[in-house]
Formats: sequence, structure tokens, C-alpha cells
Amino acid sequence: MHDLDIEIKKLIKKSEKEIQEQIKKIDAICEYNSAKVLKAFQKNKLSETHFNTTTGYGYNDIGRETIEKIYKDIFKTEDALVRSQFISGSHALTVALFAMLRPNDTLLSITGKPYDTLDEVIGLVENESSLKSYKIKYQQIDLKNDDFDYEKIKETITKEKIKLIEIQRSKGYSTRKSISLNKVEKVIQFIKKIDKNIIIMIDNCYCEFVTTKEPTEVGADIVIGSLIKNLGGGIAPNGAYIVGKKNLIKLCAERLTLPGEGKEVGPTLGINKSLLQGLYLAPSVVANALKTAILTSKTLENLGYKVEPKYDEERVDIVQNIIFEDQEKLIKYCQGIQMGSAIDSYVLPTPWEMPGYQDPVIMAAGTFTQGSSIELSCDGPIRPPYIAYQQGSLTYEYGKLGLYKAINNLIKEDENDKDK
Ligand SMILES: *Cc1c(COP(=O)(O)O)cnc(C)c1O
Repeated sequence: MHDLDIEIKKLIKKSEKEIQEQIKKIDAICEYNSAKVLKAFQKNKLSETHFNTTTGYGYNDIGRETIEKIYKDIFKTEDALVRSQFISGSHALTVALFAMLRPNDTLLSITGKPYDTLDEVIGLVENESSLKSYKIKYQQIDLKNDDFDYEKIKETITKEKIKLIEIQRSKGYSTRKSISLNKVEKVIQFIKKIDKNIIIMIDNCYCEFVTTKEPTEVGADIVIGSLIKNLGGGIAPNGAYIVGKKNLIKLCAERLTLPGEGKEVGPTLGINKSLLQGLYLAPSVVANALKTAILTSKTLENLGYKVEPKYDEERVDIVQNIIFEDQEKLIKYCQGIQMGSAIDSYVLPTPWEMPGYQDPVIMAAGTFTQGSSIELSCDGPIRPPYIAYQQGSLTYEYGKLGLYKAINNLIKEDENDKDK
């Protein structure tokens, strides 16, 4: 074996020893969330009958109805909409915004600019189908020192009528930190004291099962996430969920399908079992993704790179950032992750203009499900400070192997540079 390979293996082993305390904590959270899922399955008397399938209109799909009851129980809320007719998390967010907002209403984001795919939805980038084209107004308050800007929030919501506040917990492609549930709870209480009618909507992507609570347990009215992320457990082939207040879920269902039919229609086309099995595995898959993230954080830190979060920081989501401050290094690392994947390991990803994103993005995703970022994946917009956003791994072992390959590809490049 090449000396370099031995060095990298040693480095990963050393880092692994240093994260044992964090691993234990993750195992405890996994156990708690597994119990939560199991209890919801049992309470709703899940049986093989629910692996049914419907076609056409999809009336009386008892599997679909049971899945939604299970989601409702896991999130301890009033109702749920869990559908494969949602193309993605972004689609579910879009449906929810169009469902709840009316002309002259104002949408306020209090976590800065929302996820890139919402730019054209909101109308930050011109689009003839945007919320803006329907005269729905938008305002934004940036975070302040990685927390909410309470002063500005108070000023804005006392001065103006705000219909809906969006809180995006995970950082998306921004450089800020992700937002803990404690902070979310505090700001919701603050807002509701001033105006209890403002709808609080949470983009919960990447955050499910990372801790033992979900935003619906701390006062959020409506919570949204993607099934090709945490809750799909790597098994769900597509889809998204919306959970929350019954009246709001009704509005969302009637926007997704049609007024008058709402939740009653929606064929499941054979996916019920996959959604259930994915949810069943999700606590453990999220735990594996977190372990991979923490090992990555520690190993890259040991190599001298800037990382966020650090290995011993509180985790809010499964995303691990490596701040490369160098375009080539970002690309090499992502390409290494692809080389370490099970699918398309021989394909070399390069930056491309993805629909919905404003900068070229490099995407390593050797995944079973296209774009699934609960599977080991790493991507980054090609703009300074050249941050890699790494997510996933269905198992910790495959995560570790991917990390090994990525570091190998990164360092080999360095050594070549030295030779020049
Ligand atoms: C991934 C993500 C989305 C969009 O989910 P997709 O299923 O990829 O459309 C939205 N918000 C955040 C914070 C995300 O990380």
C-alpha cells in the first residue's frame, strides 16, 4: 500500500477515537427516536394491509391515511400530508406558501435569505409564476450573531401586518450556522406574544431526528421537509411531508390537489411500504449520517481545514461544512466523495448550472435515489469561500470509506502541486 494511504487510514482512526463521546450521544438519541417511531406504528395498528396500492384518483387509500396518522403522531401535531406528488422539499415549501398566502399578504423570513430554490418562487429572481406576480409581498430579516434579530422582528411585526413567518433551520447554501430548536422555541414565543395570528412555518429539511424533539412540539404551526432527506431513510423514492395545524394542512392539500378534494385524493402507486420502511429506518440512518459528519469534521480539522460545525458542537442538522477557501480543493474533495460512492463511482462530477440555483454547483451524489442527500453526498456552489456541504451516508461504514476516498483525492492533488 502507498504510504499516503496508510497515513490517511491512521488519521481517520485517530479522529475516530477522539469522537467517541459524541458517538454515544448520537446512539442515545437514535434509541429515543426509534422508540417514538415504533410507538406510532403500534398505536396506529400498522399491518401488511397498509402496504396496499391505489391508482387513479386514489380514494380510500388506507395505507396513505395510516402513514399520515403516523407522521401526525411522531410530530405530536394535528394533521399531516405525506405525498409522493410532492416532487421535492422545495415543491412542498412552494405549495405551502401558495396555499397560505393571498394577494397583499406579506411573507417574512427571519433567517435571512431562504434556500436557493425559493428565489424564483418568492420572486427574488423574476419569474412570471412567482408569489410576487400574485402581489404577495416579501420581507427578510437577517440573523444577528447566529441568532434571531429580536429587535428588528419586533419592530417589523408591530409596524406591519405579517401573515406568515418562515424559519429555515438548516443553513442551506449560506455560511451561517443552523438553528437549534431552543432558539426556534424562544423566537416563536416572542412572536406569538406580539401577534398570535402570525403563521409560523418551519423549513425542517435535514433536521428531523437529529435531536429528540421536532418544531411542532415548540409551537410551530406548520413544518415541512423532504423525503429524500432524513425521514425517507434512504428508502422513500421521492416525496415530501407537511405537518401541523389541521386548517393549514387542509389549505396545503387543496393547493396540492384541488379545492374540494384535498387530502381525499392522491394515488400512492405502490410506494406506501417504502415510505413506511424508510421512516422505520430513519432514526438509525440519521444517526449514521451524523456520525459520518462528526468523523468528517474531526478528520478535516486534524488536517488543518476550517470546518463547521466542529466535532463537539451541538448538531442541529446532518450537514457538515468544510470551508476550503480554494475552488480546486472543493472540486477535488467532492470528486473524491463521488469516487467513494456505490453508484457512478467512475463518473467525475464537474460544476454545472442547476435549475433553481444562481451559481454553478458541483454535486457529488453517487446515490440510489437521484439527488438523495441522506445518502453520502457532497456539494457546493462555486463561489467564495468555496464551502463543501456534505450530507449523509446510509451507514457509518460507507461514510467512512467515502471520507477516506475524498481525503485521498484532496491530498494527492496537494502532493502533485508540490512536485510542480
Ligand atoms: C434540501 C433543502 C430544501 C429543498 O429540498 P429538496 O427536496 O432538495 O427540494 C429546502 N430547504 C433546505 C434548508 C434544504 O436543505
